[in-house]
Amino acid sequence: MAGAPTARDGEIPGEFALIDRYFTRPAAASGAGGVVAGIGDDAAVLRLPAGMDLIAAVDTLVEGRHFPAGSEPRSIGHRALAVNLSDVAAMGATPAWATLALTLPQADPAWLEGFSAGLFELAQRHGVALVGGDTTAGPLAVSVQILGFVPRGAALLRRGARSGDLIAVTGTLGDAAAGLALLQAPPASIGAQARELRARFEYPSPRVEFGLAARGIATAAIDLSDGLAGDLAKFAGASALAAHVELDRLPISAALHAYAAPAQVLDWALSGGDDYELLLAVAPERVADLAAAAAGCATPFAVIGEFGGGGGVAWTSGGRPFEPARGGFDHFARPSTQFTV
Ligand code: ADP
Ligand code: MG
Repeated sequence: MAGAPTARDGEIPGEFALIDRYFTRPAAASGAGGVVAGIGDDAAVLRLPAGMDLIAAVDTLVEGRHFPAGSEPRSIGHRALAVNLSDVAAMGATPAWATLALTLPQADPAWLEGFSAGLFELAQRHGVALVGGDTTAGPLAVSVQILGFVPRGAALLRRGARSGDLIAVTGTLGDAAAGLALLQAPPASIGAQARELRARFEYPSPRVEFGLAARGIATAAIDLSDGLAGDLAKFAGASALAAHVELDRLPISAALHAYAAPAQVLDWALSGGDDYELLLAVAPERVADLAAAAAGCATPFAVIGEFGGGGGVAWTSGGRPFEPARGGFDHFARPSTQFTV
């Protein structure tokens, strides 16, 4: 949109100075290659390495929906990129470039400072260059589009699982949901374990390195954004298989065990959302290789079940059938106060 001197079209006066000051960094600073033209032209020009397929994903964070109003701007910047990096990780792909569509109620320098610091810290860690975007005035919303690449035909798809494959998951489940609960109703004092849970919501660590290591070993993958129950149902559906998970095998952190009662822990682990861990399918004869790949990048890894013929997800607890209280998160399924991407 044209940058008029008045706030026409909801654009922020001083928009160009803002872009320059907070979002323009040399592409080389991130370690990302392939930027022929970045911020400052009408569109970015990006060069894919030879023999690669392009990977593209976009996720939007809306204040009051995906994060509580008044969240730390640094956390918002981090999460806006992290949720996208998690999608790239689930494809077994290398992230390279991002664009940012930012809708701001006002151009608050302290907010922009924190937001851009959170975004660029994570971008730098993963070699991602911010190559363009759009800036406009309105209720706070952040959309990041991420672009990356994977050798031709080698992307880890949801539909690749085979009957007999084991189901594996990284990290621990349910921590981010506990962290969000802590942010929404902050206790008078907060200990180290509660801080750890809160950080799992505010500063998720996308499993990019492990996603790359899993390519060629796992048969399929999905990232956990909406909770294991919902995302596993999507995974099984995409592969036209049935999934079975034994709840006793779910990886739960010591912090979460210490913070919540067992029924609450289980509900968050199954349906909480915002974990940004990877869920993978792997043939039994390759599971040791996948575990070694996880160990190689210091990623916790657990086998929680297996795929078989048929459809749907079956849960057992200590070998006995179990029915989760609720499924995964769905923005349009019912009114909700839950935050998840
Ligand atoms: P246009 O009108 O051609 O869409 P704009 O005036 O909106 O361009 O933006 C000028 C340049 O700044 C473009 O290269 C655009 O990609 C970039 N840009 C705008 N907003 C952002 C942002 N929030 N983050 C990164 N780059 C941005
Ligand atoms: Mg524009």
